[in-house]
Order: sequence, then structure tokens, then C-alpha cells
Amino acid sequence: MKFALVEGSRQEATPASRGECPGCGARLIAKCGTKKLWHWAHSSVRNCDRWWEPETEWHRGWKNEFPAPWQEVRCIAPDGELHIADVKTEAGFVLEFQHSNISPIERASREGYYRSMVWLVDGGRLKNDLPKFQTTVRSAPVIKDTPLSLLMHDRSNPLVERWAGSRCPVFIDFGDAKPGLPFIADEHVLWRLQYFEKTNNVVATPVSRSSFIGHFRNSGGLRGYRLPQLRARPTTWSGRHGLDSYPHRKKPRRRRF
Ligand SMILES: [Zn+2]
Repeated sequence: MKFALVEGSRQEATPASRGECPGCGARLIAKCGTKKLWHWAHSSVRNCDRWWEPETEWHRGWKNEFPAPWQEVRCIAPDGELHIADVKTEAGFVLEFQHSNISPIERASREGYYRSMVWLVDGGRLKNDLPKFQTTVRSAPVIKDTPLSLLMHDRSNPLVERWAGSRCPVFIDFGDAKPGLPFIADEHVLWRLQYFEKTNNVVATPVSRSSFIGHFRNSGGLRGYRLPQLRARPTTWSGRHGLDSYPHRKKPRRRRF
């Protein structure tokens, strides 16, 4: 964990310091080595939050985009079940930063527990996920030009399939990897995936990382992208057309939605 209670205030780990777990009140030990991020750990092996996963630099980087009081927020259900949300916004939205694999059962139980939540997934964990996702992107039918929205099947590539059945929005973070769309400037893009259970469809929408942060920090709009206009639209393919059929000549304008 990033924070412990030290004499009643939330503090980050420093060498040889002791603190209390903001979740269960147990004693925490500061782990301040050279290999891992400085963090706090329960002195016993067990963590009070069974959903807790070891924190990576990716986790810490994302937490740091939000105010400290929003990070690692203790949540207790009416039946007493305790969990620590990675980030809980002032408006009550929980952001879960997910690096490791998670079973569909555990995912559903977290969605049921937090209710108002979104997943932010580390897309860089498995090296084949990005190229396979980009292949799907290139052939996916465009169902909306502004903001650019692509239609995928929930089994169209391993990463999309792993998150199939999610009831809450899923955002995939491929880090600094290029989004694979020539008309999107080289900015940090997240992919928003919305799953539709009845049809097994997924709508994938690229959004800018900075607007994601602004959306949850200041209720700003999520910023998507606009597809360059075709000179002549294809007319033979049931009104839908793959992204590959676009000439990518014009720079897109940023759009809010
Ligand atoms: Zn604890």
C-alpha cells in the first residue's frame, strides 16, 4: 500500500517507520528496498483486502494522477466486507487499476461491490495483446465517425475476450505504444470497451489519457477522435466499412463527447 496511518495521518513509507493499516488497523511495516517501490505491508502474511494485488509502478503512476485523499480509500459494505479502492473520486466513482489477471467471478463480485466503477487495465502485461488488438482495430467496422467507435466481437482477440461480460466500462492502457491509427496524433490513448451481453458485441472507442484523468478529477468530457472524411463512401458493404478503407488524409479534430 502507498499509505498507512502514522499517528493518525496518512503517510507514505519511509525507512524504519511503522504505521497502521487504514483498512483493518493492523500494524504495517515500511518496505523501503531498492528493487520495489517503497510501500507498506501487513506484518502478517495475510492482507485484510483479499482483492489487493502487489503494487507496480504502473499502479503507482496512475494513483498519483489523483489527489492523495482519493487514493486507497477504505470501503465497507453493509455486511462488513472491507476493501480498499485504488481511487475513489469525490463523486463516489471507484477506479480500479488492474495489472494482474482476474477471474470473471472475482470481476463480477467487485463490480457488484463497488457498483459505480470503471476498470483501467494494464494492456502491457502480455506482449501479444497489443499486436492482436491492433489487428482487430484495423479490420473492425466503423459504427460511428465522431467520436470514432469501432465494432468488435467479444472474442475477436484475447484481451477483449478476457474482459467479456464486464458490466462496467473497461479502459485499456497500452502505455506509450502507438494507437495504431495513422490519423491519431502520437498522444497517449486509452481504449474504452463497452460490452453488450445480449449480442456479444463490444464497442471500442479511443479516448485521450489526459481527458480520462480530467473526466474523473474535474468532471470534464472524455475526448475521443474524429475519423477523417472519405472522398467517396463505399456503398456496397451494408453501410459499414472497415477502418482500412479510410485514406487517413486529414488530421482529425478533437471532439468531446
Ligand atoms: Zn489491513
